[in-house]
Amino acid sequence: MTPAVDARSLLEVAVRPDIVFVAGKGSWLTDSQGRTYLDFVQGWAVNSLGHAPDAVARAVCDQAARLISPSPAYYNDKMLRLADLLTANGPVDKVFFTNSGAEAVEGAVKLARKWGGLHKNGAYEIITFASAFHGRTLTCMAASGKPGWDRLYEPKTPGFPKAVYNDLDSVKRYLTDKTVAVMLEPVQGEGGVFPATDAFLCGLRRLTEETGLLLICDEVQSGMGRTGRLFAHEHADIEPDILTMGKGIGGGFPLAAMGCKARFSCFEPGDQGGTYNGNALACAAGLAVVETLLAPGFLERVEVAGARLRERLDPKAQALGYGRTRGRGLLLALDLGRDCAADIVAQARERGLLVNNTRPDAIRITPALNITDAEIDQGVDLLVSVLAAAADRS
Ligand SMILES: *Cc1c(COP(=O)(O)O)cnc(C)c1O
Repeated sequence: MTPAVDARSLLEVAVRPDIVFVAGKGSWLTDSQGRTYLDFVQGWAVNSLGHAPDAVARAVCDQAARLISPSPAYYNDKMLRLADLLTANGPVDKVFFTNSGAEAVEGAVKLARKWGGLHKNGAYEIITFASAFHGRTLTCMAASGKPGWDRLYEPKTPGFPKAVYNDLDSVKRYLTDKTVAVMLEPVQGEGGVFPATDAFLCGLRRLTEETGLLLICDEVQSGMGRTGRLFAHEHADIEPDILTMGKGIGGGFPLAAMGCKARFSCFEPGDQGGTYNGNALACAAGLAVVETLLAPGFLERVEVAGARLRERLDPKAQALGYGRTRGRGLLLALDLGRDCAADIVAQARERGLLVNNTRPDAIRITPALNITDAEIDQGVDLLVSVLAAAADRS
């Protein structure tokens, strides 16, 4: 039996298992009892290169001894280099660094509203989607379509009508002279890993162009190589006007970013900022991660790894009466076909495999992007044994 954890000094915001992690390397975590776990959660798709990757550890250690934070009022070399790397390899021309995804989305909302004030007669509404997740500030919660959040912490920021994901007509129904933008996740992550169809993304791009609206892609979860491309919108061959990045960009180090096309760059000095924005330490971590993602063959390997996982898991899961995996690259969810996800997650943990559930009927699978074939096979075997035991019990 694992001893109960004494957590009385922590504010209670999550139900956590009685495990205290003390170390991690690659796809593996170690707890205070010396048990190891194969990690298919990776901090919710945050540790793109696994736990404590050498490249990030080295970059952070070197940078910490050199320069941590000269102030956002000054340039630093790492902030400039990372911004150049992102603009050279993504759809945006300009980047603003933040410390969390929510802050990046806040920046995107502010930029769209500023632009609407300047160029669209004060239009401010941003059409978002049911089941969307954009973060936990009050504005990001208002933009999200998470069930139950509409009644929490009222009143929130107004101006986020919710359309139906993958339904272009439902977006058209919310267009008014107050609309300035449409914002979506190219793959709804927290909502349960539901990809937008290429046709929907192309349709949205055409619609926003025709109506003079901004298209904002929130790629905090789907970006940074998670789906086998640097950004998930690339699968549909479209480019957003505003893009948010986060989670995997720092390889576990707190870092996120918001970027835009040059013609929508309308912040003036004083409009946006923050004490730690673009600090050299976080940007050094980001540089180490993004340089690794862009190395030849890395993103192709993500696609291959995702295909391997699905090919091995799907037939066995289906033979046991469950559904199949959905998603792209290594942003995946197994559809269980019934509300047993919490049980599967707990049983998997008992057997040394970490997966998580964002909805009662599916488990999300977001391993390190550099996971090995052997680790994929081991994780699938563990998961299948848990699925089989659960199928026997029911
Ligand atoms: C996680 C997430 C956010 C919020 O990021 P934080 O770093 O938790 O603030 C925003 N958008 C999407 C799509 C996310 O998955």
